[in-house]
Amino acid sequence: MEEIINNETPERNLNFIEEIIEDDLASGKHDSIITRFPPEPNGYLHIGHAKSICLNFGLALKYGGYTNLRFDDTNPVKEDVEYVDSIKEDIKWLGFEWANELYASDYFEQLYEWAIFLIKKGLAYVDDQTQEEIRETRGTISTPGVNSPWRNRSVEENLRLFEEMREGKYAEGDKVLRAKIDMAHPNMLMRDPLMYRIIHASHHRTGDQWCIYPMYDYAHGQCDSIERITHSICTLEFDVHRPLYDWFIENLEIFPSRQYEFARLNLTYTVMSKRKLLELVNNNFVEGWDDPRMPTICGLRRRGYTPESIRLFAEKVGVAKRDNVIDLSLLEWCLRDDLNRRSNRYMAVINPVKLVIDNWEEGKVEYFEAPMNPEYPNGPKRRIAFSKEMYIESEDFMEEAPKRYHRLKPDGEVRLKYSYIVKCVDYIKNEAGEVVEIHCTYDPTSKPGAGPWRSVKGTIHWVSVTHSEKITVNLFDKLFTEEQMGSIPEGKDYREYLNPDSLVVKEAFAEPDLLKDDSGIAVQFERIGYFKEDSKNGGYNKATGLRDSFKL
Ligand code: ATP
Ligand code: MG
Repeated sequence: MEEIINNETPERNLNFIEEIIEDDLASGKHDSIITRFPPEPNGYLHIGHAKSICLNFGLALKYGGYTNLRFDDTNPVKEDVEYVDSIKEDIKWLGFEWANELYASDYFEQLYEWAIFLIKKGLAYVDDQTQEEIRETRGTISTPGVNSPWRNRSVEENLRLFEEMREGKYAEGDKVLRAKIDMAHPNMLMRDPLMYRIIHASHHRTGDQWCIYPMYDYAHGQCDSIERITHSICTLEFDVHRPLYDWFIENLEIFPSRQYEFARLNLTYTVMSKRKLLELVNNNFVEGWDDPRMPTICGLRRRGYTPESIRLFAEKVGVAKRDNVIDLSLLEWCLRDDLNRRSNRYMAVINPVKLVIDNWEEGKVEYFEAPMNPEYPNGPKRRIAFSKEMYIESEDFMEEAPKRYHRLKPDGEVRLKYSYIVKCVDYIKNEAGEVVEIHCTYDPTSKPGAGPWRSVKGTIHWVSVTHSEKITVNLFDKLFTEEQMGSIPEGKDYREYLNPDSLVVKEAFAEPDLLKDDSGIAVQFERIGYFKEDSKNGGYNKATGLRDSFKL
């Protein structure tokens, strides 16, 4: 696993944001804390967002404050209500409640008035330069930018032009409103950044009321301030935006929200940007945003992930100050940790081969008891039918087995889990040389609970042919073949690394009780992994296998 830098101080055992909060509370800077989660409704939430949700909501819960859900809907072109609904569903599913559902667009009028305030202070101006001219005159890191010829317009002219921009007198790109800061500022973002641009598009909430829209940098901090957000937590790439965040708040003389940055979550074997995930959906590389292979919250949910496992993951990942890539196997570890404790067990055979018990009477059926979850041996039980013909996994039989192979082999013994020990006496192969039927005898004295326990080295799972149900299983693997999708070579497209074998569909046989399971969470197929019934197409989605090299 990649290094996890969680910056916990040993004395206080706090992450760096908790330290800041505790200091702020101790010094009386704040009486309570208010955080926000600010998604842009232009896609579905992914596991990276889940990290941010757990952090923001978790901090407010820990320190007795609250969290707002604020949709950052300042760009009418890419946004949609479909996304708003899914975002709300996902946050609730993760187990969090927001205090207020808010929209940046609710503040458009206030933001407009504040822009006028800055114009009046001589701190904002209307610029007629084209986008290209603005870009070309920004300078570079080593050379200063060039002042716009429109930079010294009078306050009156700026007020008139900005009002006309709002009234729709101009076409897109004709004019923008810029903050008047310093075209030679060492931080490029401070070189007269854009505050408003003209977009003639309908907004999903404000309709055609506006044709000027605030830029992220002008909107975000002011929205935080209106809501009196005490700690505005965002990802590391926004650290260069912080001076601008502070500049607006200071010059507008409004509530001093403060921005803090932590490392964004990256995961091996997947991509995490909404743009790329949208491309996967639009090009039908996956079934949709909720395809169980997607790193989206709805995909993970459909796959069989639980809210508990995702919250545990967010906690284990910690709050880092430097970018890192977290091993996908940590996420899987968290799921197993949760499901091991909570999931019901069933036996299912995915690659069946028939096993016939020669010394078992035709038609005779015996029932064995097994715990629903061995973590609770005295908890609920299930009954499993044992008969003359069974299915076992073809991998659990080997014709020419190495010495250390403890499953079934010619003349070898194995216990059929929860029931008798059987011994292989013969096997039949087809023309292709595959084993198609195994013959065994059972040892009647090996019945669990009847007489002394006889142990053999191997125990395998099984189902009775006449007492099993045919099911479909969706066996998922990693979506991409490359571990570090964030550092694929220049010129290569991430789509070239899609794993062609990320989904294999098979038929399997399972204990009939599986079909009646109403636990609502994934179940364990013993010795195989955790499976969740697919909410859309039926069949069972493999959430994760039972073990991995990953150790905590
Ligand atoms: P993407 O780049 O995937 O489109 P985004 O940052 O544009 O994501 P937003 O809707 O703007 O998505 O994000 C909402 C919140 O979630 C922001 O506060 C953002 O910092 C946080 N966030 C987004 N991606 C991650 C991530 N990978 N790890 C942690 N937090 C994230
Ligand atoms: Mg964004």
